[in-house]
Amino acid sequence: MNRPAPESSTRAAFEAAKGFMPLEEGLALYAAAVEAGALGLPLLEVGTYCGRSTLLLADAARRTGVTALTVDHHRGSEEQQPGWEYHDPEVVDPVVGRMDTLPTFRRTLHAAGLEEHVVALVGRSPQVAAVWGTPLGLVFIDGGHTEEHATADYEGWTPHLAPGGLLVIHDVFPDPADGGQAPHHIHERALASGEYTSGPATGSLRVLRRG
Ligand code: SAH
Ligand code: MG
Repeated sequence: MNRPAPESSTRAAFEAAKGFMPLEEGLALYAAAVEAGALGLPLLEVGTYCGRSTLLLADAARRTGVTALTVDHHRGSEEQQPGWEYHDPEVVDPVVGRMDTLPTFRRTLHAAGLEEHVVALVGRSPQVAAVWGTPLGLVFIDGGHTEEHATADYEGWTPHLAPGGLLVIHDVFPDPADGGQAPHHIHERALASGEYTSGPATGSLRVLRRG
């Protein structure tokens, strides 16, 4: 079976958007999202940033008739703050003097014609997870990369993943020389839980299926 691919307009918007996901990993995320969308349940992302990966979940949601949800406080992760490696001065709110990626995210989705397929949840991931109650077809974890944040995302959101649903984790680097270890640790934890079967790996993207 051919891997489903996003609309060419989505792909172009993805390539133009600010963000941290290589195309190959995005295409793997898209294929997982289409598969998960067949469950008829919402697709959830932790870590919206400027909407680069959200575009793919939105396209998959449109295609499968579900809703994409994306959670972010929009104030940026540790490594995105001024003076750090991944800082982008274009996403600082000059009035507040802090990062605010929400306006850029909204422009990204609007330009791609995908706004109506996405519900943005603006807030801290563990706080949103704590009030969440709907089963999810896909949980995509790409939020804060400290141990504290990655662990909270895993513990907060995976209980909502439906049987047969997909858990997707970004920035999994088994070798510490390649990157931070927190996403790798939650990936190991998911495997050790016995609740998942291992699916495809593409770059640093890992797909697991809930048994
Ligand atoms: N998925 C995006 C990149 C996300 S970057 C892409 O592919 O382009 C990580 C994002 O997680 C940042 O926007 C940051 O604000 C958000 N984040 C980090 N910790 C968070 C938390 N505890 N709650 C909500 N959002 C968080
Ligand atoms: Mg990432």
